[in-house]
Amino acid sequence: MIAIILSLFLIVPEIEENHTDSIADVAQKSEYLEVDNKRIPWEIKDAVVEALAYFPELAGISIDFEFKEKISGAVMQAQPRILTMFVTGKEKREYRIKITRAFEFEEGTVLIEEVPHDALVGWIGHELGHIMDYKNRSTVNMMHFGMRYMLSNKRLTEAELAADTYAISCGMGHQILTVKNYILNNDNFKDSYKNKIRDLYMSPLQILSLQEELLEDEG
Ligand SMILES: [Zn+2]
Repeated sequence: MIAIILSLFLIVPEIEENHTDSIADVAQKSEYLEVDNKRIPWEIKDAVVEALAYFPELAGISIDFEFKEKISGAVMQAQPRILTMFVTGKEKREYRIKITRAFEFEEGTVLIEEVPHDALVGWIGHELGHIMDYKNRSTVNMMHFGMRYMLSNKRLTEAELAADTYAISCGMGHQILTVKNYILNNDNFKDSYKNKIRDLYMSPLQILSLQEELLEDEG
């Protein structure tokens, strides 16, 4: 009898402890920040919230930030949700940004949240620039644009220039430059990917001169 009572005493604190631990675990793994129609993985919420602050025009617009194991030819990719393009008005369109969860670098796995902060913010800012671009297109224009985007490098370049230009004119020149240099100076990225960044995107010099022009306009 005494043994049973004693063992109850011994068990009870343990159960309580486990109980507390599991609540803490759940809180830590609470996976998404849901705010202002955005769904953001907890691990990158600070970078995403910082980038979103540069885009007041995206307030209230539905954007899901989704982790993916792999995205072909890209680290992040912004897309409209196709169905919402037909069903609802322009302002009610929904978007998602796919984000590669981790890189397999030579020194090991690098999680996306381990990318230097300003580079990560710039990366997300570039994708938000795409959404600004999509947001301002009509559905018909977007369908044509989407098809040509897939078929021609020229359209791809235009789209990437537009995304960078939106982000830079929203004040993100520094972060856009940081992510560009992060990619181009990183031995872990494949040459094919770096060449794509060189060929189709704004170069660091172009970013600087656009940033300067915008600053002059303001001043
Ligand atoms: Zn892009």
